[in-house]
Amino acid sequence: MNTDITVILNKGSIKHTLNKSEILSLLKTKDTNKLFKVANKIRKLYVGDEVHLRALIEFSNYCQQNCLYCGLRRDNTKLIRYRMEPNKIIDLVQKAKDYGYKTIVLQSGQDSYYTIEKMKKIILAIKNLNVALTLSIGEKTFEEYRAYRNAGTDKYLLKIETTDQNVYNKLNPGMSLKNRKNCIKNIKKLGYETGSGIIVGLPGQTLESIVEDIIYMQSIPVDMVGIGPFIYNPNTPITCPPKNNNNTYFELSLKIIAILRILIPDINIPATTAMETVKPNGRLIALQSGANVVMPNATEINYKKYYEIYPGKICLKDSPEHCRCCIESKIKSIKRYISTDVGIPQ
Ligand code: SAH
Repeated sequence: MNTDITVILNKGSIKHTLNKSEILSLLKTKDTNKLFKVANKIRKLYVGDEVHLRALIEFSNYCQQNCLYCGLRRDNTKLIRYRMEPNKIIDLVQKAKDYGYKTIVLQSGQDSYYTIEKMKKIILAIKNLNVALTLSIGEKTFEEYRAYRNAGTDKYLLKIETTDQNVYNKLNPGMSLKNRKNCIKNIKKLGYETGSGIIVGLPGQTLESIVEDIIYMQSIPVDMVGIGPFIYNPNTPITCPPKNNNNTYFELSLKIIAILRILIPDINIPATTAMETVKPNGRLIALQSGANVVMPNATEINYKKYYEIYPGKICLKDSPEHCRCCIESKIKSIKRYISTDVGIPQ
């Protein structure tokens, strides 16, 4: 078994391609240190020691979708809803820029309040501030994606969540995997730096389906991939907490990050907030297993507690300014440094 893993890792390091059974063996391996070490080495070789920071601004928690696992889902009446007006969003972006961020991620539930006109106003004002912009606002029409892109948006993040048709259909009522894939195709076609990713540990998900997810990421290919463990939210219809504990999903997420780094070596991989929610210093551990991006929260304290996708979110009482300083010292503690460019490939 040990030698098998070594052989697979050697092949992956050289060819950056593995077949399904090899990927499955890596997902199952108990020899995790070897896997993480190889991924860390490839990360250093391809994207270096710099860590890209993206300031996350959660500007609306209204959502028209009803995903069974997500606290923002339409039918969650327990959530207090908020949405920011364009000027408020632009003001937060200016503040984030003042803290030294060079890339902003605007995220929200799928909220049709923000028409093309409103979004254009927001995007143009942000691009005037000379920062890179990522949108993560859900499934839109080709025309909408084109309008955001033409207004200057650099990147778009739309996680596929799972490529398992049965799991997807069960957990995402009223949505279709085909449409989500089509959205990602359109995003890629429009020249965005394209981000996707999955939730790890969704009810019904199998290791075999995660192998398919990884192959899907390669087939696009994604420029950025966010991987995070499923975190049970009591205000959603998923009633029974998953059998495995948080630690299992943490380790499995870490393995997926490492495998993706080996297979698509030059992409951006965030160490997600969900990783730190289930494990202290989870983001630092991810940064040492293949990740190279962190997305600190730059939403003001009085809003961010209501952006409750899952409970137990980290740093709820910390200001954006505090989060910026804190992450910098953490990154330095593992002998990495913060990138000074916007991180857009040439
Ligand atoms: N409306 C946007 C943003 C969704 S929220 C969109 O559709 O892309 C951001 C991400 O949170 C989701 O893509 C999903 O991957 C993640 N998420 C939702 N519920 C979760 C949960 N219970 N545990 C972990 N991650 C979750």
